[in-house]
This record gives sequence, C-alpha cells and structure tokens, in this order.
Amino acid sequence: MTTKPLIDLQGIKKVFYANDIETHALQDINLQINRGEYVSISGPSGCGKSTLLSLLGLLDTASEGSYTLAGTPTTHLDRAQRAQIRNKEIGFIFQSFNLISELTVEENVELPLTYRKDLSVKQRSEMVKQALARVEMSHRLSHFPSQLSGGQQQRVAIARAIAGSPSVLMADEPTGNLDSKNAQIVMNLLDELHEQGATICMVTHDPRSASRAKRNIEIFDGKVVSDHPVVVPSALAV
Ligand code: ADP
Ligand code: MG
Repeated sequence: MTTKPLIDLQGIKKVFYANDIETHALQDINLQINRGEYVSISGPSGCGKSTLLSLLGLLDTASEGSYTLAGTPTTHLDRAQRAQIRNKEIGFIFQSFNLISELTVEENVELPLTYRKDLSVKQRSEMVKQALARVEMSHRLSHFPSQLSGGQQQRVAIARAIAGSPSVLMADEPTGNLDSKNAQIVMNLLDELHEQGATICMVTHDPRSASRAKRNIEIFDGKVVSDHPVVVPSALAV
C-alpha cells in the first residue's frame, strides 16, 4: 500500500499586494509532509514562515500552485468549505495564544468544536474535558485568560488546538512569548503529542525548539533552501 502524504504542496506561490507594493512571500514551494511527522520551519524574519503556515492551515490561499490536504484538493474550495475542513483537520497554536478574553477557559476550548455539526453537546463537553486534562488545566475551567499566566494560557490554547483530534497541529512560534521554564513545558507537551501520533508543523527561530522536531525545513526569501531530518547524536555513533 502506498500512503499519500497528509500535506502535498506543488508549485506554491504567494504574492501580496499592498500600497502598490508587490511582495513575493513564497516562491515555488514543493513540499510533502506525512502523517505523524514533526516538522520545524525556520528562517529569518520576513522570509515567509507565517505565510506558509497560514496556507497549510487553510487560513489563506495561494496565488499559484496546488495544495492537497488528507487527499482533498483544496485549491478550488470556497471560504466556507475551507473553514469546514480547517475546523476538523487543523489545530492552531500561536505565539500570542489568541484566546478570546471574554470567554472562560472551557468556552475557549469548546469554541472551534461548536462549528462542527457532527458533534453533540455532550460529545463536545467530553472532548473539552479530555483536552484540558491532557494539558493539566482541568482546575481552571471557569477562569478567564487574563487570570492565567502566559504558560497556562498557551496550555489552554494547546487544549483548544487538540480538542477536535485534528490531523495536524500548526504552531507559529509557540514559545515566542514564554519564559524558558514555560517554553520547556510547552515543548514537552508537543513532544508528547507527537509521540502519541500527532502531526506537527512548527514555525520557530529558536534552534533549541527546532531540534525537538524530527525534520527541519529552512526558508529563505520565500523558498525552501534546506530540508533534512534532525540528526540525533547517538544515531551517529552506530
Ligand atoms: P515570517 O513569518 O517568516 O517572519 P511572513 O510570512 O509573515 O514572514 O511574511 C513574509 C513576507 O510577506 C514579508 O515581507 C511580509 O511583509 C509580507 N506579508 C505577510 N503578510 C502580508 C500581508 N497580509 N500583506 C502584505 N504583505 C504581507
Ligand atoms: Mg512569522
């Protein structure tokens, strides 16, 4: 049996037009990512990392090229169809957590699930409880984001990302706003999710975070300039 890649980008280009300026943010990206991979995406500021992650997460569309996610060609989907796939298949983790300040922890984690017509209220509440237990935040269900530390907010954001059992987690600088202790906790959590089978695409400019992934992709000026497995020192000794 041949397994198709979970993510398949062919000839992807992204051009932004703003104030008469044309920015070629991504140029001819060809990229395949399989289920269960843990990939880091790094490169200098402005090289196109977040743009790439937005395309992968169906938050934005390419100017050219094709993107097939879990066997579904996404290029010709309309906004609503993209949102539907996004809600089911993709979990997001952002540098700035992006929790909604007016909603409690429980409501934040539940929010993406409320768009899923395939889930009953009871199923939703069960999934929220399980996700918060996985990030050890079950004791803060009724708190609001402002009542939590940065590390706790990011753990809630991770619970929100994993609650719907998505095919892939997209993390954009997930430790960028955290102190080293909380960064460590979040990176350990990502390791754990990966060991349990999650596919992870993580943008990071931190070499320590990148080394936790199993495959490093480097972007420069909107192009992939290197793509290789992370070499584990002990494997070299064999
Ligand atoms: P990175 O995440 O690697 O720092 P980005 O993907 O955010 O880089 O941006 C890549 C390039 O595209 C930059 O030159 C940036 O200014 C430009 N860009 C990103 N988003 C937009 C947008 N919505 N409109 C116009 N230009 C954009
Ligand atoms: Mg960015």
